[in-house]
Amino acid sequence: MQLTVWTYEGPPHVGALRIAASMKGVHYVLHAPQGDTYADLLFTMIERRRTRPPVTYTTFQARDLGKDTAELFKEACREAVERFKPQAILVGASCTAELIQDDPGGLAKALGLDVPVVPLELPSYQRKENWGAAETFYRLVRGFAGGREKPEKEEGAPASCNILGPTALGFRNRDDIVEVKKLLTSLGVDINVVAPLDASPLDLTRLPAADFNVVLYPEIAETAATWLKREFGQPIVRTVPIGVTATREFIREVAELAGIDPTEALDTDADRLSWYARSVDSNYLTGKRVFIYGDATHALAAARIAEEELGFKVCGLGTYSFNFARDITAAARHYGVEPVISDDHLDVEEAIVEAHPELVLGTQMERNTAKRLRIPCAVISAPVHVQDFPARYAPQMGFEGANVIFDSWVHPLMMGLEEHLLGMFREDFEFHDDTGASHLAAVNAAHGSGGQGVAARAEQSAFEAAAAEQTPDTIDSPDGTAARWTTEAEKELKKIPFFVRGKARRNTERFADETGVNVITIETLYDAKAHFAR
Ligand code: SF4
Repeated sequence: MQLTVWTYEGPPHVGALRIAASMKGVHYVLHAPQGDTYADLLFTMIERRRTRPPVTYTTFQARDLGKDTAELFKEACREAVERFKPQAILVGASCTAELIQDDPGGLAKALGLDVPVVPLELPSYQRKENWGAAETFYRLVRGFAGGREKPEKEEGAPASCNILGPTALGFRNRDDIVEVKKLLTSLGVDINVVAPLDASPLDLTRLPAADFNVVLYPEIAETAATWLKREFGQPIVRTVPIGVTATREFIREVAELAGIDPTEALDTDADRLSWYARSVDSNYLTGKRVFIYGDATHALAAARIAEEELGFKVCGLGTYSFNFARDITAAARHYGVEPVISDDHLDVEEAIVEAHPELVLGTQMERNTAKRLRIPCAVISAPVHVQDFPARYAPQMGFEGANVIFDSWVHPLMMGLEEHLLGMFREDFEFHDDTGASHLAAVNAAHGSGGQGVAARAEQSAFEAAAAEQTPDTIDSPDGTAARWTTEAEKELKKIPFFVRGKARRNTERFADETGVNVITIETLYDAKAHFAR
């Protein structure tokens, strides 16, 4: 048992559902208890699809358990095939159904349906969503491309590739595909099949015809691509084109496989990140400490962009993709940090606090954590909420993706700077404490603080709440350590920009502990500063 409040990935059947929902002509019959239909909302609400995902749930209830649940499943299969007339059906069980051991694969096969049946064995208690998606995609690819001959290539035909990995509910997959297609087309490479997104089982039968496979999301397509390589000798393009450097590498890798000169494709003015990052306005970005966490693909790409393209300092790197732990560990070593390989958000939070970053790049969970810790944050990876399925064009891949990344990472830092200035000028007639940062006005109202400024609220921590109950001139430090702050010292501390204030507080308290100072005064604060500046 593991006490879990937040989970980065759903159960593996949600991964299977994502594959079914990505494709055309595939229907998923899922043996699952009543209530599992919640998964529909991921697609209709978060991804804002206009249609229900192609899934039939058996939705058995407690009273069904005394009866024949296998019969329920068979009935659901028959009905689904009759009603939806798919080219293929996936059959499997959710967590609870796995326990009743009805064997969906065997039952569906015994029905003698006139559509191909792809049975899924997804161990819900050991594996998670991305693994479920990868396994389902692999089963489908194997089922439909397997046993075929690689077609002869026509004389003089251009090089062609498959794009593998984009799915429903994938972070920015919809727009990444557009960007990657653009890159490939600019090189003169034909796109044979894109899968699973928008592909049908019939399309999968054409996979062997391509010269090579582009794997955009290894978490989803690595297994299938490895099988295709073994079966049809198709090389794999492994560079994921997120970031300018990676996009350039991607172009070169594809060009080499396709026997094409990449010069023209590389000579582009579509990349604005490189210049923006060099422009003088970006000077203040240099050396900013950034903590990165997400799925392995996005975390690795983000770390590279952060260090090589924006001049940040990676102060933490982690993933919940256990299958890619080795890659993340190697990258973390490269950046000189301890890797965080965990799917427990509390571990991640602890690592963030420890690393005292100035920017967090993570998932929806880290957005919440960073908000609580008052650190600027941008989202770089699933799991994400509805706002990260935007109406506008917002890829992460290719040159336009790099432009989007520049804006979305730098924006929260700018907001942070703005808040800092508001804090500094809070005695000013215009920027006083009653003027809240506009983007947090609602929070101010909810706090009932009469529109108090954000920087001011940053100071209104548990620390201050405690202060109110204690002696007027000295107060306990927030973590309950023995050191005590005088009101003047505390006031002085507030002059420090809020995003480094936590570190200054911790350093001063450490210094006080080490030098046996019980009451922290302004002098202690400056002594500590001098001590750590040495
Ligand atoms: S079967 Fe699994 S996914 Fe469905 S409600 Fe139970 S635990 Fe959740």
